[in-house]
Amino acid sequence: MKKELICIACPMGCHLTIDIDDDYKVTGNQCVRGEVYGRKELTNPTRIVTSTVKIKKGIYNRIPVKTNGEIPKADIFKIMKELEKVELTSPVKVGDIVIKNVCNTGIDIVTSRSM
Ligand code: SF4
Repeated sequence: MKKELICIACPMGCHLTIDIDDDYKVTGNQCVRGEVYGRKELTNPTRIVTSTVKIKKGIYNRIPVKTNGEIPKADIFKIMKELEKVELTSPVKVGDIVIKNVCNTGIDIVTSRSM
C-alpha cells in the first residue's frame, strides 16, 4: 500500500509517496529531510504544539506558549485540555516552564515571550 503526503519540512512542499509494503520507502523528496518526515509521519507522527494560556496582570490577557520539543500527534488534544486549566501571573520570562513533562511526554510547555 502506498500513501501520499506533502512534505512540511520546508516551503518547497514536495509531494511524497511512501510505500508501506517496502519498509516505508519514500520517493518524491528532494532532500533527506523529506525522507525522514515521510517515514516518521506514518510510523510515529509528532508535532511542536503552539497555543496560548491565560495570564493575570500582563499587558494582554493571554500569552503564547509552546512545547520545547515534538510530542506525539495523538497527545495534542490532551495537552490542549491541560493548557485550558493554566493561568499565569505576570511577570514571566521567555522560556519559563509552564507545565513540566506535560501529559508524561517528557516534554515541557514553555512561554514563547516575556510579559
Ligand atoms: S523533501 Fe526536502 S526539499 Fe522537499 S519539501 Fe521536504 S524538506 Fe523541502
